Amino acid sequence: MQLFNTIAETQYYLKTQQKAGKTIGFVPTMGALHSGHISLIESSKKENDLTVCSIFVNPTQFNNPEDLKKYPRTLEKDCEMLEAAQCDVVFAPSAEEMYAVLPKLKFDFGTLETVMEGKFRPGHFNGVGIVVSKLFHMVKPDKAYFGLKDLQQVAVIRQMVSDLSFDLEIIPCPTLREADGLAMSSRNTRLSVEARALAPHIHKLLVLAKEKLQSGESSVKTQAFAAEYFKNYPEFELEYLEIADFDSLETITQANTPGKTAICIAAFLGGVRLIDNIVF
Ligand code: AMP
Repeated sequence: MQLFNTIAETQYYLKTQQKAGKTIGFVPTMGALHSGHISLIESSKKENDLTVCSIFVNPTQFNNPEDLKKYPRTLEKDCEMLEAAQCDVVFAPSAEEMYAVLPKLKFDFGTLETVMEGKFRPGHFNGVGIVVSKLFHMVKPDKAYFGLKDLQQVAVIRQMVSDLSFDLEIIPCPTLREADGLAMSSRNTRLSVEARALAPHIHKLLVLAKEKLQSGESSVKTQAFAAEYFKNYPEFELEYLEIADFDSLETITQANTPGKTAICIAAFLGGVRLIDNIVF
């Protein structure tokens, strides 16, 4: 496995590989890797000659400086996991390397970013758009793999790739969960023992909300049910629970409209912000 910290080394190596006819699969991450990330590496390995994983805690997508400071950084362990998964290239640049000049360009993803994560984390998707575009230009992948755990991110990246004619394919991948249903996340390592024991309630609630909607309950009543559910667990601070169209992310009033429905949630638990969703 090759580990590069500079853009120049990464581009030089990958260009040589591409000239030799190799296809490239790309998995962008912020590190603190877990099995969810590794499942993306495995998907890429099945479909490409070379798999590249980037590890970069991107400052421009954090609207909360405390969250950026506390974000776990475990490069050595990440590299061990990537080596074991037979990843071919790790690109782990510093912030200075990625942002030698701070970008002035601003993305506007329209309605896709005025809801949910976009509403509660102003500037977040601009930061994501900037870093992912830069990484796409540096790596020039044939396919890029993104987890559906970050459903809105997948929608935003798809929009960006389409609007800007990036010559690559976006492959959405399913969410990996712990045995108790908790969606795997780098942030889970920051949960106290008590908070970790409560955290599966997020997924439990999503499953119950899905059942309500499937039995014909309205979105408003399902949201009220969710608020009531968390009254039993005051450790949670519910930020949002939205019932939305899977593609447009526009809120829907009833789940029986044609197309896929997504229930998306964000909640703080012991100072850690967790997100999850369920699609049906
Ligand atoms: P992050 O390091 O959190 O930016 O995540 C990097 C990529 O891994 C993103 O495309 C995430 O959606 C994806 N990812 C994070 N958690 C999971 C999970 N539990 N299952 C599958 N993919 C995930």
